[in-house]
Amino acid sequence: MRSVSDDFPVSTVLGYPRIGPDRELKHALEAYWDGRAGRDHLERVGRRLRADTWRRLAELGLDGLPSNTFSFYDQVLDTAMLVDAVPDRYRECADPYFAMARGVDGVAPLRMTKWFDTNYHYLVPEIGPRTRFRAVADKPLAEVREARELGHETRPVLVGPVTFLRLAQAAPGSPDGFTPVDRLDDLLDVYVRLLSLLAAEGVGWVQLDEPILVTDGGSPAVRHAYRRLAGHPRRPKLLVASYFGDIADALPALAVTSVEAVALDLTHGVPEDVELLRGRTVVAGVVSGREVWRTDLDRARALMAAAGATRVSSSCSLLHVPYSLRGEDILPGRLAFAEEKVAEIVALAALGPKAAPGAVDTGGTAVTGAGSRRRPDTGVTERSAYAVRAAAQRDLNLPTLPVTTIGSFPQTAEVRAARQAFAAGRSSREEYESLIEREIGRAVALQERLGIDVLVHGEPERNDMVQYFAEHLDGFAVTRNGWVQSYGSRCTRPPILHGDVRRPAPITVRWATYAQSLTGRPVKGMLTGPVTIVAWSFVRADRPLRDVTMQVADAVREEVRDLEAAGIRVIQVDEPALRELLPLRKGDQDEYLAWAVAAYRHATGGAGDATQIHTHLCYSNAADVSAAIDALDADVTSIESARSGTGVPGFGRGLGPGVYDIHSPRIPSRAEITARLQRALRTIPAERLWVNPDCGLKTRTYEQVEEALTNVVAAAGAVRASM
Ligand code: GLN
Ligand code: ZN
Repeated sequence: MRSVSDDFPVSTVLGYPRIGPDRELKHALEAYWDGRAGRDHLERVGRRLRADTWRRLAELGLDGLPSNTFSFYDQVLDTAMLVDAVPDRYRECADPYFAMARGVDGVAPLRMTKWFDTNYHYLVPEIGPRTRFRAVADKPLAEVREARELGHETRPVLVGPVTFLRLAQAAPGSPDGFTPVDRLDDLLDVYVRLLSLLAAEGVGWVQLDEPILVTDGGSPAVRHAYRRLAGHPRRPKLLVASYFGDIADALPALAVTSVEAVALDLTHGVPEDVELLRGRTVVAGVVSGREVWRTDLDRARALMAAAGATRVSSSCSLLHVPYSLRGEDILPGRLAFAEEKVAEIVALAALGPKAAPGAVDTGGTAVTGAGSRRRPDTGVTERSAYAVRAAAQRDLNLPTLPVTTIGSFPQTAEVRAARQAFAAGRSSREEYESLIEREIGRAVALQERLGIDVLVHGEPERNDMVQYFAEHLDGFAVTRNGWVQSYGSRCTRPPILHGDVRRPAPITVRWATYAQSLTGRPVKGMLTGPVTIVAWSFVRADRPLRDVTMQVADAVREEVRDLEAAGIRVIQVDEPALRELLPLRKGDQDEYLAWAVAAYRHATGGAGDATQIHTHLCYSNAADVSAAIDALDADVTSIESARSGTGVPGFGRGLGPGVYDIHSPRIPSRAEITARLQRALRTIPAERLWVNPDCGLKTRTYEQVEEALTNVVAAAGAVRASM
């Protein structure tokens, strides 16, 4: 048995935010993309952010500083560049890196998808049988040198080879049966070379991130990869880092290799066979990189003791939390963002492990206290059968193939500026609200003029579909500057759900009824569903997520009933994040889907039969959730399908497969929309087919919306006439 490598730092983090405390990277990227600033400016901002991060981590007393955790866009994309896995179509582009990330004229970007169960999105590498791996880019080495010049010795972080290949997709044109993992040995050649280059530079430790161990730990690829890498004579010591769950299945595989250290995400409990790691350094991920709550130091020390760990770290990269609490005045004493978490890690390393007296709770997230307090139920949850509801809704007098939109209309710079002025106290409520009414009037007038059948108010009062509701519900706090990277330059500011959720007053009724007062056509009320609200928030850890979601569902339910009472006949409750909370392990998915569906049905189940409930999801061909989408039991479901066909098979109620892709500024022609509708009619009967774009119009301009919707209405008319 090898001896413990006791030169591993006592305190470290697996990664750190990189967008900049004031989103400096976002602004620099956008200036570069728009041609307002050159590449040198972008490079300068990157260098400054890296320098500031290392300096700050050192100031906070952190012992082991990571490097190569910075990225101009995404660490998986960086890895593809590092091993030269650049598909041919980008090689001639002026800037292949950003072409892969964002596409350029006529060249589509790489596909983007969620990084495990987080809200961070990575770019999906394309690997084929002929991809030629080579160690080309020198980013890890360059960052090591850059840090050294600033006086810091760092541990470069690389996406591990197994995770990289498992997250890749087969390049177009690959033969049947090919999977990127088939190329493991070729990729390992490159990793071996990179490791020897780093060793030659005198680097002591390298971190290989393998979150795939959580879902795929038992695969032979893991053992093979780490036998080869660790068996190579000229290499730095290896820290294999796993996170986002328990890696019990991977422990036997790692145990037969000679990797020197393993970082475990102990926020999901201590793996049963942790003894298998004896003789190695165990790095205890006891400070959660996913939550924003202060760490219970006693429990963390007990977890360290149970795992036999003397080294402390974050459970995963701190990329998923905001930079710091500086400038925030919410929830005093309860929160920890990245900087505060680093201070906790340093403190825990100084305190060391301590077995708790008596039985230690070393299971997953502690759930303490009584169940969440819910209001007494307000009426039945189950609505009548669809046929009964459809009959009761007939007096909405909608034509066949009714045309509607998904909710938001363009958010003008004027509206955004007015919202900021109002929030900062620079304008009165009256001024702000009259501007919102003007915007609603503009959206309603446009929809009437175009001949849309079910209108929307356009959501001008909302900064964001979750934050807006969080600001109007008790139990949520919102930050001033708590930005978290979602992808590339895109950041979100997740609200913090910290207590029992209550709706002190109606939220949307004022705007929906104002819009309805302007038109004789039905206006659709617009709400965000309970699952999406919790999925895009930081949630309390002291209650099971299902209970928290149910409380939010109570609040949405009250809003549905108030809209109905105010005369709104059509109400849409969006659940675009239904799939985001799907557990990583297959075995846990059914239970989640059951409560997620129950929460949605609770939120909408107070509506009478004559009220038409719509829902919207931003995808359709997700086999793992299509049964759940059906089970939501909405009267009408609109889905993204502009890129993926007509979606949900065997769906027995109203369905609006998006007729064009709103994410692109391109105007869809009347002919192509007509063709799409005709195709949809092959699988969906005319009396249940709806006509709508595939998502909200918030990111488009009024000119684009007017042109596109003109074609949508004309196409619906043409198809109706031909029936
Ligand atoms: N109603 C929202 C909108 O139109 C839906 C957004 C979404 O699906 N993400 O903006
Ligand atoms: Zn959508």
